[in-house]
Amino acid sequence: MQTNFTLAQLADPDTAVSEKILRSCVHCGFCTATCPTYVLLGDELDSPRGRIYLIKDMLENDKPANEEVTLHIDRCLSCLACMTTCPSGVDYMHLVDHARARINDTYRRPWLDRAVRDVIAAVLPYPARFRAAMVAAFVARPFLGLIRRVPGLSRLAPMIALAPARLPRRSRNAGKNAFPAEGERKGRVALLRGCAQSVLDPGINAAAVRLLTRQGIEVVFAEGDGCCGALVHHMGRRQESHAQAKTAIDAWIKAIDAGGLDAIVVTTSGCGTTIKDYGFMFRDDPDYADKARRVSELAKDISEYLETLDLAALANPSKVVVAYHAACSLQHGQQVKTTPKALLVKAGFEVREPAEAHLCCGSAGTYNMLQPELSARLRERKVANIEATGAAVVTAGNIGCITQIGAGTKLPIVHTVELLDWAYGGPRPARLTG
Ligand code: SF4
Ligand code: SF4
Repeated sequence: MQTNFTLAQLADPDTAVSEKILRSCVHCGFCTATCPTYVLLGDELDSPRGRIYLIKDMLENDKPANEEVTLHIDRCLSCLACMTTCPSGVDYMHLVDHARARINDTYRRPWLDRAVRDVIAAVLPYPARFRAAMVAAFVARPFLGLIRRVPGLSRLAPMIALAPARLPRRSRNAGKNAFPAEGERKGRVALLRGCAQSVLDPGINAAAVRLLTRQGIEVVFAEGDGCCGALVHHMGRRQESHAQAKTAIDAWIKAIDAGGLDAIVVTTSGCGTTIKDYGFMFRDDPDYADKARRVSELAKDISEYLETLDLAALANPSKVVVAYHAACSLQHGQQVKTTPKALLVKAGFEVREPAEAHLCCGSAGTYNMLQPELSARLRERKVANIEATGAAVVTAGNIGCITQIGAGTKLPIVHTVELLDWAYGGPRPARLTG
C-alpha cells in the first residue's frame, strides 16, 4: 500500500513503525474472512482491511481520532486472527495498538463511556479492588433486570452478569512467594501472579505450582509483580500500561538477579502476549529497553514450558473427552497452536476441537464489558460449536475465555493446567467435582 507521510511525521517512532506496517498491506482482503466482526456485521469498516484504511487516513493526515474511527477500532477485538491469515505478514497488532493510543489521546468519549472505562482501569488490575467489586456485583446480581433498564446504570450490567455466582476462596498459596522443587531441583521459574485471574480462579496458579514443583521445578512469585499492563494497554492507556509493565519488569529482573530464572511462566495467555511484547513496547526507552527484552525472551505460556519438561509419572490416566478452546491470544497472539492439545493427549484425554476454532469467543480482555452485544453473539456461536463436539469438559488457557464461555454453557470449563495437574498426580479440578 502506498503511503504519504512527511519526514517530520516519520520522526515520530510510532508513526515510523505504523508506516512500515501500512506499506506491507497489499489490500488483498484475505483477512476479512477470518475477522469475527466482519463475519458478524459484514461491514468493510469492521474488517481488518477497512480498519487499516481508517488508521492510515487518521495518521497520514494528522487527524485527531473521530467518532467513526473510534467506533470501528473499538469494535475490533484485537483477537489477531487477521495476523494468522494475512499472507503478507501485516503486523496489525502494533498498528491497532498505535490507533488505540491515539484515540485515547485525541478523542473525547461521551461521559458514560469515559466513566465505564475509568472504572475498569481503576478496578480490574488491582486484586483487592477487584475482589471488592466482585462482592458488590454479587449483591447487585438479583437486581440485574432492573439495572439493565436504568439509563446510565445499564452499562454496568455486563460486568455484573459476568461476575461469578460464587467467588472462590483465597488460595492457600496467598502470601507465599516461593515453592521449592520436590526431589532434585531441575529448574527455577517465576510464575506470573496476575490480577483478575488471582481473584476469579486462584486454583489455576495453584495447579501450576503443584504440577511444576512435582516435576522438580522451583516456583517463585516475583515480589512486587502484579498486573502486566495488558488490560489498560488494550484500552489505549499507554501511560498506565507502561507504568504497570515497568513494575512487573523490575520485579522479574530482581528475581533473575536473586537466583536466575529459566522462564517467566504465564497461565493467562492474554497477559503472555503482552509480556512477550515488552521488548517492542520499551524499544526506545534507554532505562528499560534491555530489561524489557530480557523479560520478553524469558516469557513462556505454561504449555510451552511444560513441553520442555519430561513430564513424569502419569497418575490419573483419564479418558475424559475435552473440547479444547484455543484462546486467540494463544493461537494468534503467540502462535501456540498444537502444544496444549498435544500435552492433553499425552496425558490421556480425548481432545476434540470445535468448528470455527479460529474465531474469538468475545471475551478479548475488557471487550465483553465494553461491547456486550457483539461479545454475546460471539459467545453464543462459540458455545454452540463447543457443545456440538459432545465433549464432557471444556478447557482453555486463558481466564478471560473461561469466564466468558462459562457464562454461556452448563458444561464445566477448566484451565488446561488444571487437567494436566490432575493427570499427573494432582487433585481433580474443583469445577469437575460438582
Ligand atoms: S490479508 Fe494482509 S495484506 Fe491482505 S488486506 Fe488483510 S492485512 Fe492487508
Ligand atoms: S484483531 Fe480480530 S477483530 Fe480486529 S481486525 Fe483483526 S481479526 Fe478483526
